[in-house]
Amino acid sequence: MAQLHELTVQELSEKLAKKEISSKELTIHFINRTERLDDKTRAYISINQDNALKQAEQADKLLAKGDCHIMTGIPIALKDIYCVDGGRTTCASRMLENFIAPYHATVTAKILSANMPLLGKLNMDEFAMGSTTKTSYFGYTHNPWDLQAIPGGSSGGSAAAIAAGLTPLSVGTDTGGSIRQPASCCGITGLKPTYGVVSRWGQIAFASSLDQGGPMAKSAVDCAFLLDVISGYDEKDSTSIEQPETSTTKHLEDSIKGLKIGVPYHLFEDNKEVVGEENIQHLKQAIELYQSLGCEIIDITINNLDSAIAAYYIIASAEASSNLSRYDGVRYGYRCENPVDLTDLYKRTRSEGFGEEVKRRLMIGTYVLSAGYFDAYYLQAQKVRQIITNEFKQLFSQVNTILLPTKPGSAFNLDSNDQDPVSIYMEDIFTIPINLAGLPALSMPIGFDNIKRPLGMQLIGNYKEEHLLLNLSHHYQKETDWHKQTPPNFS
Ligand code: GLN
Repeated sequence: MAQLHELTVQELSEKLAKKEISSKELTIHFINRTERLDDKTRAYISINQDNALKQAEQADKLLAKGDCHIMTGIPIALKDIYCVDGGRTTCASRMLENFIAPYHATVTAKILSANMPLLGKLNMDEFAMGSTTKTSYFGYTHNPWDLQAIPGGSSGGSAAAIAAGLTPLSVGTDTGGSIRQPASCCGITGLKPTYGVVSRWGQIAFASSLDQGGPMAKSAVDCAFLLDVISGYDEKDSTSIEQPETSTTKHLEDSIKGLKIGVPYHLFEDNKEVVGEENIQHLKQAIELYQSLGCEIIDITINNLDSAIAAYYIIASAEASSNLSRYDGVRYGYRCENPVDLTDLYKRTRSEGFGEEVKRRLMIGTYVLSAGYFDAYYLQAQKVRQIITNEFKQLFSQVNTILLPTKPGSAFNLDSNDQDPVSIYMEDIFTIPINLAGLPALSMPIGFDNIKRPLGMQLIGNYKEEHLLLNLSHHYQKETDWHKQTPPNFS
């Protein structure tokens, strides 16, 4: 019989409603697994045991009365970028090591008002800058499929915890790929919604015009249930948008016959070495499956992917240098010991409080915004962003979705790429253009490579069409069982 952590959220919810289990038992199950297994993965930064049990007891009272929300009593863990009132919120940085948030992020508030017990906070790259969790001040997370491999990042703790069965769900954030790339590395499903669908209020800022929170789970169905909890217009976030649909779950079973899937075959052919042979084979099998389900496959050309990485690292770093100026040792967060004057306070606080990668981005960001270089870099990057956005707009007049690899190959080893930030930046070559355009995109597992590391596929949608991506992914997952597999050492 399947164990509790192997069940989908839908199955868990049915068990709760039928009183076959209580939310407290379920919460204890995940806490016990975390105590037993998280030494191997190191996915959690903090565990919220006492509060989680209280929240579970509260959920059980509601469940006893019946007529509850489908998510009532289902535990969840958050990326440690979301503020939890009275709880530690570190963003995996020394700068916020002891920061206690004074309010809930909108995402946190929505989760708690759905009576979902909050298990704890998950590891990530420092300030969400990275693709491995190796920039975390608290040390890195291991991929449950292979402890030598990266879990991906920046939401690597979230992806690893779900794959290892240490939480059924998580909310991650994606500025350039940080939900989709770790989802791909750990063999789970993750959705970056249209920019503005999930509120950024109380989500610690990295690059505000790109940051977007979204659901991470084993399956598309579970992501849809969670998206319905966390999405919604929020007047506290000035970039929040009027919502596309009240519910993505109600579209899961819609027919996908006749939907047009655009596939840029030229990218696979021209970049065989980057994408990887095994990845291409699995992508082709997925394409055939969609064809057999009645979708129309259309060969498309995408021209502007090459320039996306350069534009992204200029724009994201520029925004980061502005957002992170608040960490000055005066207002809140880390402060250096015995500063001699204000300049010394700023300098040492920021030198000691931030890690190498964050400092690299802040230097780049400050440089590209400086008077002499603004036109040459920042303005130019914004033009590239517009060109990419226009190209997608044009492509979505021909197709309903675009299919791409999520990332090059599978997860690489934790001990590789140490000296070379640019090769790590290439991890997001297929995900970054989507953030620049503000579109929704989903990653789901489509198989394993020959050393049993998961491979992922990405589906990109037009604005506000996340329901279509979840619908397409759900149909794929009804025919396959990649998303149901569990890493052998975490059964
Ligand atoms: N890996 C990318 C970066 O380091 C994306 C990070 C993210 O999406 N938060 O900027």
